[in-house]
Amino acid sequence: MGTPIQNKAPGKDISHEDIKEKFPLVAKEDKDHFSSFEISNITFGPESLPIFAGPNMVESEDLIVDVALEVKKRGASFLRGGAFKPLTFPYRSEKYNETREKGIEWLSIAKSKAQIPIITEIMEEKYLGIISEVADILQIGTRNMQNYPLLTACAKTGLPIMLKRGYGSSLRDWLGAAEYIMVEGNNKVILCERGVVAPHTHRSTSRFLLDLQVVPAAKEITHLPVCTDPSHATFWRPWVKSMALASVAAGCDGIMLEVHPDPENAAVDPLQAINYDDFENLTKDIDKICSVVNKKLVTCIQQ
Ligand code: PEP
Ligand code: MN
Repeated sequence: MGTPIQNKAPGKDISHEDIKEKFPLVAKEDKDHFSSFEISNITFGPESLPIFAGPNMVESEDLIVDVALEVKKRGASFLRGGAFKPLTFPYRSEKYNETREKGIEWLSIAKSKAQIPIITEIMEEKYLGIISEVADILQIGTRNMQNYPLLTACAKTGLPIMLKRGYGSSLRDWLGAAEYIMVEGNNKVILCERGVVAPHTHRSTSRFLLDLQVVPAAKEITHLPVCTDPSHATFWRPWVKSMALASVAAGCDGIMLEVHPDPENAAVDPLQAINYDDFENLTKDIDKICSVVNKKLVTCIQQ
């Protein structure tokens, strides 16, 4: 193996010995090593910028079909939407209770009506069967980043996996979790920074803090694509656009965005979703920044 990083890069808790021993599959072989792969004809890698867009929760058949058609037209590569949701508090609306298995069916209807690939979260191994029938990418949420039995079970399906960073996890812990997936022979792993617990200086402005610096830091060490989720990181609609554009400028390899036809009335996280027009305008601006960083926005229409 080559030398992927400087021996003593600023602030690093990761050394060459660490890389060789702890995450050899996730680590770069040399500084120009970046994975490139296709998922549902969408290219992932250093030259492309896919967008995952959709509501936080699937909510209803009508809603998810509408979002699927609209985000596809307006520049998305994948439709996102949670059917099984890790909510912070256990008091669930009726909508939540009926979404689960039905949500997976609704995603499948949206997928075939709009012809757009799907990413959705998996929380429990027992639902892997039904989820993997519709998901083109399995999403592991921040709360499960270190749920190693779940990672192993998902990895064994061979489906691509988006591994969100635990909101209290170091880069080293995140890469260790990715290694659990790769060691099962699954090479289609996408990392996603979704905000970390904000230090006290930021608590008055946000619950989480988008760690933009982890994008170049991760890409210095790993060949895997590194995406960001400015919706969950900011938790606040007015900040989503600037953090999405900043993510692209920082060199990220994909963006997850919460998009809803009526964001104020979204069933989950109504403060962070953006509407269709704002999404369309944002994709146009993302496209502009892409040209600065030598990337191409890949939509599922172009492919
Ligand atoms: C989500 O994407 O719907 C989600 C719950 O994200 P996270 O795991 O980052 O909170
Ligand atoms: Mn959420």
